[in-house]
Amino acid sequence: MREYDVCIVGGGAAGLAAAALLKKELRVCILEKNEILGRKLAATGGGRCNLTNRACSGKDATLDFFASIGIETYCDEEGRYYPYTNRAADVIKALTDAATAGKGDAETAEKGDAAGAAVFCNSAVTDVTKEDGRFVIKTAKDSFTADCLILATGGKAAPQYGTTGDGYGIARSLGHTVGRVYPILTPVECGGVDFQKLKGIRAKAQVSLYRDGVPVEGAPKETGEVQFTDDGLSGICVFNLTPFIKAEEGESVSDAIARYSITADFAPDFTAGDLQERTSSFGILTGALAEIADEQMADTGCGAAFIKDWRFPVKSVKGWRYAQCTAGGVDTAEIDMETMESKLVPRLYMTGELLDVQGPCGGFNLQNAWETAMKAAKAINGKDR
Ligand SMILES: Cc1cc2nc3c(=O)[nH]c(=O)nc-3n(C[C@H](O)[C@H](O)[C@H](O)COP(=O)(O)OP(=O)(O)OC[C@H]3O[C@@H](n4cnc5c(N)ncnc54)[C@H](O)[C@@H]3O)c2cc1C
Repeated sequence: MREYDVCIVGGGAAGLAAAALLKKELRVCILEKNEILGRKLAATGGGRCNLTNRACSGKDATLDFFASIGIETYCDEEGRYYPYTNRAADVIKALTDAATAGKGDAETAEKGDAAGAAVFCNSAVTDVTKEDGRFVIKTAKDSFTADCLILATGGKAAPQYGTTGDGYGIARSLGHTVGRVYPILTPVECGGVDFQKLKGIRAKAQVSLYRDGVPVEGAPKETGEVQFTDDGLSGICVFNLTPFIKAEEGESVSDAIARYSITADFAPDFTAGDLQERTSSFGILTGALAEIADEQMADTGCGAAFIKDWRFPVKSVKGWRYAQCTAGGVDTAEIDMETMESKLVPRLYMTGELLDVQGPCGGFNLQNAWETAMKAAKAINGKDR
């Protein structure tokens, strides 16, 4: 049995940030299921890692933290922060270096020595119990004990990066409530048009979400680049509608989905009046999109104003593999959100996407990972032992 002060389950965004910030006197281990650390992080922001957003209240602490580990940042005109080098790989390297830096090795260090975290990859945690006040953490090949446990396993979105929802089972086994989880920030499968003819096209549009023909309250009305796929719509502005496509109490998911549609305004810089005299959308739209829009204009008799209100019935929301985030998760009412410590199990900390906390695209979900990791590390650093 390997003994540590703090065991971190999950070497992704939150796990690495927590390890980087824990006091070096603590013996820390990171158990990561994948063969490498930060695998999902490498894919974030299209490989650029959108770290945080101007609109996040905790963004200054995040930027200070990254500056402290050598990562300078810049903000684009949409308010999204990226590493100055535009490379997620550099973020992973800086986090890993900060997490593992120390005079010695956490495996062999005596208590009180300054050591870096010991990293165990290919180590999926299968079981956690608390025995005689200490956590006992098991993987297929090893057992670990620790005084404090940080669960940083992420959610279920994009399981190809290792996040298969294991943390929910562990949290439940320790007595926590886990709410229903569903994939969000995904492309949407739609009807209403032959997408095979449009796939690959990108066009500027303002998109909005309707349920039973009525705008969905709270859903954003964002202008951005809409991407046509072979079966529907994609792009950040479309992703941000998906948290609002959901079943109501007692309603089946398929019945609920059939009530939604996405409306795209492909001429957001023009009024309907500006378009009145037009007999074709060509010149505002281009290529196959203009051709198909013109066919639809003829069929519906709407004229060019049609392209300001092009309605696509929703057929389904793409599943976990395509999702950038998980909606739902560990009930935050059972967590002290200032320290991230469980209110049910002392010295158990939960961070990141595992929790029932989710934001839109734009750096909000990574901000949640950094922020909860910072709070957990600060709380553990301040604990008596
Ligand atoms: C393609 C893509 C792009 C994204 N881009 C952005 C972006 O630019 N900006 C943004 O804010 N958000 C983005 N997100 C969302 C963001 O990546 C996540 O919200 C964030 O990484 C969650 O951090 P986390 O630490 O909770 O979990 P993760 O970073 O997912 O890390 C969890 C880690 O735990 C490991 N793990 C899981 N189970 C076990 C187990 N049983 N034992 C051991 N280890 C385990 C996993 O392998 C993983 O390495 C993106 C998501 C995807 C899929």
